[in-house]
Amino acid sequence: MLELDEIQKKKLEEKYIREGYWKGETFSSMLQKCAEAYGERAALCDGSQCISYAAWNRFADAGASYLQEQGIKSGDRVILQIPNSIAFGLALFSIFRLGAVPVLALPAHRKNEITSFLRTASPTAYITVRSHLGFDHAGMAEACTAGIDCKVILADTIDYQEHLSDDVDFSDNGRTFRDIAVLQVSGGTTNVPKLIPRTNADYLYDAATFSEVCNMREDTVFLAAIPASHNFSFANPGIIGTMLHGGKIVMASSGSPDEILELIDQEKVNLTAMVPSLLALCSEMAEWEEYDYSSLQTVLVGGSLLTFSVLAKAEAAFGCKVRQVYGTAEGLNTITDADMSSEQTAGCQGKKISPADEMLIELEDGTSASAGAEGELLLRGPYTIRNYYCNPEADAEAFRDDGFYRTGDRAFLDNDGNLHITGRVREQINRAGEKIMPSELERLLDENENIHMAAIVGIPDEMLIHKICAAIVTEDHTITLQSLRSELAEKGVAAYKLPDLAVKLDSLPLTSVGKPDKKAIVQMVTDNLVERI
Ligand code: AMP
Repeated sequence: MLELDEIQKKKLEEKYIREGYWKGETFSSMLQKCAEAYGERAALCDGSQCISYAAWNRFADAGASYLQEQGIKSGDRVILQIPNSIAFGLALFSIFRLGAVPVLALPAHRKNEITSFLRTASPTAYITVRSHLGFDHAGMAEACTAGIDCKVILADTIDYQEHLSDDVDFSDNGRTFRDIAVLQVSGGTTNVPKLIPRTNADYLYDAATFSEVCNMREDTVFLAAIPASHNFSFANPGIIGTMLHGGKIVMASSGSPDEILELIDQEKVNLTAMVPSLLALCSEMAEWEEYDYSSLQTVLVGGSLLTFSVLAKAEAAFGCKVRQVYGTAEGLNTITDADMSSEQTAGCQGKKISPADEMLIELEDGTSASAGAEGELLLRGPYTIRNYYCNPEADAEAFRDDGFYRTGDRAFLDNDGNLHITGRVREQINRAGEKIMPSELERLLDENENIHMAAIVGIPDEMLIHKICAAIVTEDHTITLQSLRSELAEKGVAAYKLPDLAVKLDSLPLTSVGKPDKKAIVQMVTDNLVERI
């Protein structure tokens, strides 16, 4: 069976090459080409300074020489954990230039995640910063690597200037377009992240295709508002998409709304990417701040449920177009059409970006659904992975024999080919045998102006299997379980779907990239740490 899978995999790979999806480029050669094409144009800025494409390319050579001196070789894995900054871009491309493979850790990752990356990827080095936002990264790096043969390198000790030389040539670093370029990190809040092997060819194709759909050009000024190593900021179309067109990348180092708003004004940002919770905060703050947002043309938003009210507030606050994106670090992306109305944009995740992308909806009996029917979303295509990195157990669960990746997302496709995500398969609440998707109730609660945020979760219950719990953020003391039930019933929600309990939170717990952390909410409710209303 395995051999057959391998043959099928090879056949598909040959097809992607033959049909021109996979090109002969690597990330390293891409930067070299950018330097040749865009030279002294500003490439990467972090608020206080900017470097050009030509300088970035020279520093990549210098950084590669430095890393080589430190004993790192082509093919080695290197954990990269640097907050948004020029230092991130320099270290990243130094690793690429040497032919090593960065493990793209998020700044928010802590001992649990880093230890699992060390175990799975056996990296020879861990590049990080001394500290960031008050956290001692250097201390954590030393503690995690104690007794392991993995060198900790602090980004600010890499002396690029000193290693600049005309004599180095890493162009033949042994890596080809088919090789793994980066190890991305899976999202989710359940377990430690899985490592996602993205090759040079697939990831560059993804970024290039997505950048075309987003009309990126030489005058694109992209703001990396969420962590640069996250797939959405990194290459969807993000930093890599901007580079492919010779645009300018602006790094928001803290990712706080005030910094983001100031940078939009200061750097005349015209494109950015955010998760809904960050977009909501930025739109709210924009009402108070006196910045000029007229440069901003498009905000891409994705990563978790986007409600109409969040979208409408953002379009009003920034006077720009919001486009909804669906993405997974494992691969396939969709985006709403630029000419869709705000209602349509909030109501679906749009169309696949490549003609070779395959999306199918699998019903519980394993058959494929037709348009309109809901099931699990499965993906395959030229930039969707077919296995995790060194994780056969996860592979057995996540991939079908024919290579389709099981997203764990519940969804349906409409007649126009637009994707509609209705929630996570596992998020579906089973209340005494009745199935409830949280997103249906969340969208309705969002229509209540006095509710800032709402999440619906299933609380394990001996009698009912799950009780439906509404967790809301509000200052309105008149909102109670009863008022929520009446409000939802008036909007036509069936009685069995009405919440069994309601709790009030100061804010929703969020994951490291700002998605609602439902597992944490369930825990807080189970542990009685929240106020019942
Ligand atoms: P990550 O691996 O962090 O990129 O997370 C990917 C997951 O985020 C997907 O499998 C979805 O569950 C979720 N997601 C991404 N985009 C959207 C969206 N536009 N609406 C709802 N959920 C989304």
